[in-house]
Amino acid sequence: MGSYDCLVIGAGVIGLACASRLARSGHSVLVVEEERWIGSHTSSRNSEVIHAGIYYSPTSLKARLCMEGRHLLYRWCEDHHVEHRRIGKLLVAVSPDEIAALEALQKNAVQSGVDSLLEVSAAQLRQMEPAVAGVAALLSVDTGIIDSHAYLQSLLGDAQRHGADLVLATRVSRLQHNGAYWLVEGESCGEPFSVGVHRVINAAGLFSSQLASNIDGLEARHVPQTQWCRGRYFSYSGRSPFSRLVYPMPDVNTAGLGVHATLDMGGQVKFGPDVAWTDTLDYQVEEVLRSDFAIAIQRYFPGLDPQRLTPGYCGIRPKLSGPGQPAEDFLIQGPKTHGLPGLVNLYGIESPGLTASLAIADHVARIID
Ligand SMILES: Cc1cc2nc3c(=O)[nH]c(=O)nc-3n(C[C@H](O)[C@H](O)[C@H](O)COP(=O)(O)OP(=O)(O)OC[C@H]3O[C@@H](n4cnc5c(N)ncnc54)[C@H](O)[C@@H]3O)c2cc1C
Repeated sequence: MGSYDCLVIGAGVIGLACASRLARSGHSVLVVEEERWIGSHTSSRNSEVIHAGIYYSPTSLKARLCMEGRHLLYRWCEDHHVEHRRIGKLLVAVSPDEIAALEALQKNAVQSGVDSLLEVSAAQLRQMEPAVAGVAALLSVDTGIIDSHAYLQSLLGDAQRHGADLVLATRVSRLQHNGAYWLVEGESCGEPFSVGVHRVINAAGLFSSQLASNIDGLEARHVPQTQWCRGRYFSYSGRSPFSRLVYPMPDVNTAGLGVHATLDMGGQVKFGPDVAWTDTLDYQVEEVLRSDFAIAIQRYFPGLDPQRLTPGYCGIRPKLSGPGQPAEDFLIQGPKTHGLPGLVNLYGIESPGLTASLAIADHVARIID
């Protein structure tokens, strides 16, 4: 496989953003990806929302990297002609007993540095989005949507223009440091392969804990358990009833932001994601879920005709917390934490990982250089 300075394991948005960042700063980079296409897992199975940074604890990596990443991502989209739209998002309280939670989120967002939230009254909400029922809302003007597939391609193109190579259908199964460099072993297109590199980025998403447990010398206490949580979507057939993204209030300690309405770049509406814990890589969306989705959506969109909902797609969140537990932060560990040279492991890169991807790559580059 030639000789490289850095090996990036995983060609999702995080691996590709790291590859582009490291290649730009002069490293020779090899990206290996188990699947036959880039972005086959979480990076192509999400809401495609560029988040403002409303929900995360102000001192968390999620808050900081989301804010930094959002600015970088909008600029990247302009520079690389990636389709996106700063469409705005309404966060809606549907009844008076949700107003305290709405205010708490507003306060949290301000503490995190989000300075673009606007208060919306019930009358203004009716005017802005006649299909939406609510007693108060917050408008986030900095929230946007992005064509995530075009973004993945732009990251790969940029990395390759700066000399990085990508090998698909290649799975890393074991890593050991021999004192001078990392010896990496695995299987490529059914054949064994090995490569020696100085730096390794484990950006394996759902599989990063599993991969980390096959790194010789990495103490088990540094390897968190990753739990999987499905998020399923239903597509809405017909013209969009909204012109912005519409989010309900998130439930306390659930694993998602609530079944919300997002639009894609073609103006098509999808609703989701829900929350279903799993230990299998199952991307099915069962038709039988329609009535549960309809109940969740009708709270803020009472005019919904459930027959317009058809099963869409499913993504799986790599989570470091379990059912009913508060959300955990991103966990990005470098040599200062685990003591192994040139190694960065990324765990729990759930939402807002897409928004934060370029800031995560900067963070990784700082840790590893
Ligand atoms: C339902 C849902 C909705 C979301 N919505 C949003 C949103 O609106 N906005 C936002 O900012 N974020 C969102 N996210 C989060 C975002 O999608 C993720 O943070 C991001 O895609 C994670 O990218 P990744 O590169 O870490 O993982 P992945 O895209 O999963 O990439 C990891 C890659 O590693 C490969 N791999 C694994 N093991 C190996 C191995 N041993 N050898 C070689 N390759 C390997 C895999 O095949 C995979 O392609 C959402 C996530 C979900 C699940």
